[in-house]
Amino acid sequence: AVAAHHLIKHFGDLEVLKGVSLEVDEGTVTSIIGSSGSGKSTLLRCMNLLERPDRGELAIADEAIRFTRNPQGDIVGLDRRQLQRLRAKVTMVFQQFNLWPHLSVLGNVIEAPMRVKGLSRRRATAIGEHYLERVGMADRRDAYPAFLSGGQQQRVAIARALAMEPRLLLFDEPTSALDPERVNEVLGVIRDLADEGRTMLLVTHEMHFAREVSDQLVYLDQGRIAASGSPQDVFDDPRCRRFVAPAA
Ligand code: ATP
Ligand code: MG
Repeated sequence: AVAAHHLIKHFGDLEVLKGVSLEVDEGTVTSIIGSSGSGKSTLLRCMNLLERPDRGELAIADEAIRFTRNPQGDIVGLDRRQLQRLRAKVTMVFQQFNLWPHLSVLGNVIEAPMRVKGLSRRRATAIGEHYLERVGMADRRDAYPAFLSGGQQQRVAIARALAMEPRLLLFDEPTSALDPERVNEVLGVIRDLADEGRTMLLVTHEMHFAREVSDQLVYLDQGRIAASGSPQDVFDDPRCRRFVAPAA
């Protein structure tokens, strides 16, 4: 399993995560819902250390990291090698795709496996081609991101995240920046990944999709988990109903 224990994160005086604990079982999908500013992206970014939590603990498979700060305010107990190992185990798909514009589709997908995991170009290419095939983008391997639709760019971004063969895949509103007619091609890929038993943590506003694909649903409210459980339970929770109910 992948677990966060009592994560706390401040930006200046603003406490964005107020002790968030969360466990994602191997082979399951957890979706996070909550209003704008509730800390969803920050939580995801803490899970792969794009942000450093101030306090708390992360356990990814067999590795645990405890966050504390010394009196100078520096994070204690996280060295570069540990950071790299963790980055290889937890990868992320962003709302705005964030592909490298100067690299081809294949270049985008093989960069991290080569740089972070130290794979040869040949080996990374074999893996990259496999995952591009998986998301239906193998025939565009030599294209540059600017020549792709948003849906295609996001599928490449998913292949890029998969190419690290992570223990946990994070998605931060992966369809929010897409034209409506492109949303389903990306949700379809995510649904396939869920069906094949990938461990995933997903922030989404697509309530129907979240309900359908998730084993666990977490409702984050002002930096705290206000409700969690099966999608059914959370949608039926009165604290959450107000949030998920379609506007009358
Ligand atoms: P949304 O649904 O709009 O994406 P969110 O739930 O993802 O919202 P976060 O992006 O995690 O929310 O932001 C939570 C709070 O932390 C907000 O008040 C935001 O302004 C603040 N915040 C996020 N990142 C930073 C940062 N790097 N520096 C300062 N404040 C930040
Ligand atoms: Mg966000």
